[in-house]
Amino acid sequence: MTEALIELKNISFKYKNSYIIKNINLKIFEGNQIALIGKSGSGKSTLISLLNGTLIPTSGNIKFFNLPFHKLDNSQKSKISTIWQDLRLIEDLSAEQNVNCGLLGKKNFLFALKNLLSISSYRKAHEVMKICKISPSIFIKKIINLSGGQKQRIAIARSLIQEPQILLADEPFNNLDPKLTNLVKNIFLNEENQNYIKISNTILIALHKIDLLENFNRIIGLQNGTISFDLSKGELKDNLLDDFYEFSEEN
Ligand code: ADP
Ligand code: MG
Repeated sequence: MTEALIELKNISFKYKNSYIIKNINLKIFEGNQIALIGKSGSGKSTLISLLNGTLIPTSGNIKFFNLPFHKLDNSQKSKISTIWQDLRLIEDLSAEQNVNCGLLGKKNFLFALKNLLSISSYRKAHEVMKICKISPSIFIKKIINLSGGQKQRIAIARSLIQEPQILLADEPFNNLDPKLTNLVKNIFLNEENQNYIKISNTILIALHKIDLLENFNRIIGLQNGTISFDLSKGELKDNLLDDFYEFSEEN
């Protein structure tokens, strides 16, 4: 049987006294293109932080490439990349420097130092930014001076340059207009040929755009910290979604 890249067994997570994630079992396999849906507060971002090892579960067991997180070496850790909902860019550094930061887990200290001092120009960063339709005039601008949509695409480029085996993306279409949403969706789902970077075929995206769901091969619905459905592409029916959103509509 194929081994899961990430496996969650009976995972629960609580902040203070309240459980945010409740007894989740989930296996992510190579080739899964997962849309993670659920109303605000259902636990999507928390689940993503458990899937990238940032949060440690209160109870249960997580394996990454069949190993517990503390057994992973840096190269294994850099196989999982996250586009955070709050982006986590370094505001005082330029767009290009931020994109290069995606490679810090893979490159040596000299690369990090040159990047910090901005004395190197790295072709791959430029190519990845171009793929994300960031114009060259933006490369040297500080994050603090960019628009929401530009920042969003820098965060995306920073993850793509890492060429991770698994890409986790938390509402990556925020701040993007319909044209850019479509472009980024096509990049994520490998629907556009890229010469310069290898795009992972294993991806989990938290999103609210229901019209994009048909592009994914697996749809997971999260409700109050539990998985209420986990379906493959053909299994998703409109009425199920209607019920899901009606039932879970925010008060
Ligand atoms: P989603 O991404 O689906 O909107 P989150 O995972 O961000 O959901 O949040 C799930 C729940 O966890 C929410 O009720 C939120 O208030 C709570 N929560 C998130 N982060 C923290 C935190 N750092 N401390 C306490 N509660 C938190
Ligand atoms: Mg969230």
